[in-house]
Amino acid sequence: MKRVNQHLVFLMGLAFIWASLASAAHSATVEGVRLWRSPDSTRLVFDLNGPAEHTVFKLDNPSRLVIDIKASRFAARTTDLALSNTPVERVRHGAQQNGDLRIVLDLKEDVKPRSFALKRIDDKPDRLVVDLYDVQRQTVKTVESIIEETQTTSRRDIVIAIDAGHGGEDPGAIGPGRLYEKTVVLLIAKNLANIINAEPGYKALLVRDGDYYLSLGARPEKARQAHADLFLSIHADGFDNPKARGASVFTLSHRGASSKMASILASKENKSDLIGGVDRIDLSDKEDQLRKILVDLSMTRSMETSIDVGARVLNEMGRVTHLHSKRVESAGFAVLKSADVPSLLIETGFITNPTEAKNLNSLAHRTKLSKAIFKGIHDYFSEKPPEGSFLAWKKTWQRSY
Ligand SMILES: [Zn+2]
Repeated sequence: MKRVNQHLVFLMGLAFIWASLASAAHSATVEGVRLWRSPDSTRLVFDLNGPAEHTVFKLDNPSRLVIDIKASRFAARTTDLALSNTPVERVRHGAQQNGDLRIVLDLKEDVKPRSFALKRIDDKPDRLVVDLYDVQRQTVKTVESIIEETQTTSRRDIVIAIDAGHGGEDPGAIGPGRLYEKTVVLLIAKNLANIINAEPGYKALLVRDGDYYLSLGARPEKARQAHADLFLSIHADGFDNPKARGASVFTLSHRGASSKMASILASKENKSDLIGGVDRIDLSDKEDQLRKILVDLSMTRSMETSIDVGARVLNEMGRVTHLHSKRVESAGFAVLKSADVPSLLIETGFITNPTEAKNLNSLAHRTKLSKAIFKGIHDYFSEKPPEGSFLAWKKTWQRSY
């Protein structure tokens, strides 16, 4: 027995020396790679077991993107990456003589690269994010065509921007059976969009329409660009206690939260950018500062609308699901912040509650929820239609005949 222990100590000693040598040679290991495709860009995320410096540059003939990571090695699979709909033909890697790791992306199309490091947070490790922006941007066209449509007709559609929370790197709350908030809310958003588009006088804009991450700033920005009349951010709550249940509706508050629950939820939702990945350079542009002044002017009006629509939506949702709070709550949600568009954050239920998770996972329940949300919206807009809209025209027409 004693001999065995001695052997064990010796082996452990060897393992320790080996491990120290290995870590001296390599400061980091790439342990995983994921790829997310959005309408205008491709995001590659490299999981690292610690922070590491990197550089990114392009090479021509043939077109390649080179990612050098200092003193690192590669221990990830690249074979399952879905490259078909992306500008990337192939991902290769090799060790440099100086001990650096070189990852090469063979490109099919020209891209504008951007890269940044994400520090470890919660259960996510240190990550290196490489965004490849398409040179021809398709989303801009989509937004422009909507603007054109809304501006050239005097009976314009009311535009409802629907933002499915989270996405890509950020799964949001996770329910039983690894049911992801990002998946469920995208299904609700699409369902709601179909209901809205089927109603004359309305048009829905899906802010996120696939499994990729959009920053909390980019989401309302899309709504603003499309001259949306209302911005909805759709979520499904998560909590440690599986008994927590019920839907709730939130507006933005600049002066603290309406309740402890609202405050906790806002700080949880606001962490999204750290998990999903945002290039900080993106956030500080001058145009944004200028807009803030303009936003303040229209804010009061927009807040009144938000609260009014919110109450009607909550009321309708209360007919089809349990409510967590019977009044519209408010807190400093980042996703509602930069919008000079009336905005609501809707928690459709607790994905961590087994019964509600089952409901959220069912098409029938999602349809009920979507119909209720739209009923609340329609209740507001048919009573107070925006000037120049089809609904405003219909209202005058109905009155004069
Ligand atoms: Zn959420």
